[in-house]
Amino acid sequence: MKSVQQTPKTGKVYLVGAGPGDIELLTLKAARLLAEADVVLIDDLAGSDVLSLCPQARIVHVGKRGGCKSTPQLFIEKLLVREALAGHKVVRLKGGDVSLFGRASEEFAALEDAGIAFEVVPGVTAGLAAAAELKASLTHREHAHGVAFITAHGAEGAEIPWQALAQSALTLVVYMGVARAASLQASLLVGGLRGDTPVIAVENASRQDARSVCSTVATMVKDFALQSLKSPAVLVIGEAMRERAVQLAGQATEAALNANTKIASVA
Ligand code: SAH
Repeated sequence: MKSVQQTPKTGKVYLVGAGPGDIELLTLKAARLLAEADVVLIDDLAGSDVLSLCPQARIVHVGKRGGCKSTPQLFIEKLLVREALAGHKVVRLKGGDVSLFGRASEEFAALEDAGIAFEVVPGVTAGLAAAAELKASLTHREHAHGVAFITAHGAEGAEIPWQALAQSALTLVVYMGVARAASLQASLLVGGLRGDTPVIAVENASRQDARSVCSTVATMVKDFALQSLKSPAVLVIGEAMRERAVQLAGQATEAALNANTKIASVA
C-alpha cells in the first residue's frame, strides 16, 4: 500500500494583551488561549504569574525592557512564523494592549507575508490601569475632550507635535517617559503647556507595589528624581488631573506631618 505523505497542518498565532500586571485584569479569552497554547512567547512586562495559566505550554521569554539586553524583533517574528508552520497554537503575550507601543504592526506584517492565520486579543493598557489606580477620569468633562496615548520614545526622526498637543485640551498619557523626563519637560514647555499643569506618574500600575508621584510640568524632573521614580511608569498630564493631584499632595503633606509628629513624640 502506498503511504500518503501528510503535510503538517499550519497552526495559528494569537497576539494577546496581558494587561498591566494584575493577573485578574487578563480577559477570559486570553486565559482560555493560554490554557490551550502549545507555545507562549512572553514579554517581560507581561508579568510571570500568568504562566501559571499555561503549565502545558513551552515558554519562550522575549523580553525587551528599555535599557536591558533585548530580543531582536526579527528573531521574534521568525519564531512566530516557524512555530505556526510547525502546526502549533502560538500565543504571543504582550504587556498591556497589543496595539499600543508593542511593534505589533511588524508582527502582523510578518505573519501576513508568511500566510499565517492570526487573531488579536486586546488587553488593558497601562494608561487605563493608571487612571484606575488614581481613581481619576482621563476625560474630566470640564477639562479634557479626549486622551492622547503618546510615547516619549519617538521613533527615530519622527517628530511628536507637542505644540498641537499642548493646545489640544487632551489628557496626555505618556509611555516610556521616565528616562526621557527632561526632554519631555522641555518639549512640553516649548510646546506651550503651562508650567503648573499637573503631572501624575503612576509606577507599576495595577501591581502590589503601585505608587504615584504628583508633580507639575515645571517640576517633574526634580520630583521624579527625588522620589526615585522607576520604569515601568506612565505619566498622566493635564488639567483633568488637577483635582486628584491636589488631593494626593494633601495626603502626602498629612502623612509627612504625622510622621514628624511621631518622631517628635518618640524624641
Ligand atoms: N503595550 C503596553 C505598552 C508597552 S510600552 C500597554 O498597552 O500598556 C512600555 C511602557 O508601558 C513602559 O515604559 C511604561 O510606560 C508602560 N507600562 C507598562 N506596564 C506598566 C505598569 N504596570 N504601570 C505603569 N506603566 C506601565
